[in-house]
Amino acid sequence: MTTAVAQSTPLSAVDRCDRCGAQAYLRVELSAGGELLFCAHHAREHGDKIREIAAHVHDETHRLASTPAAVPDSEH
Ligand SMILES: [Zn+2]
Repeated sequence: MTTAVAQSTPLSAVDRCDRCGAQAYLRVELSAGGELLFCAHHAREHGDKIREIAAHVHDETHRLASTPAAVPDSEH
């Protein structure tokens, strides 16, 4: 890994949903500044609101479709 650039950095296991602490699959860059992270569940639940307040949405929820659901989301 080289220099980390915040804007296009892929989400990883250390990125956690601001609502429930699950692994985040959606990064919302707010038009007012700052960013929020959401798991797939909360990304769906707050989808409309997110798009209202977001300047940009980095969506990786598609990665869930190719991930076996049975894998536990433990600490490494
Ligand atoms: Zn969540």
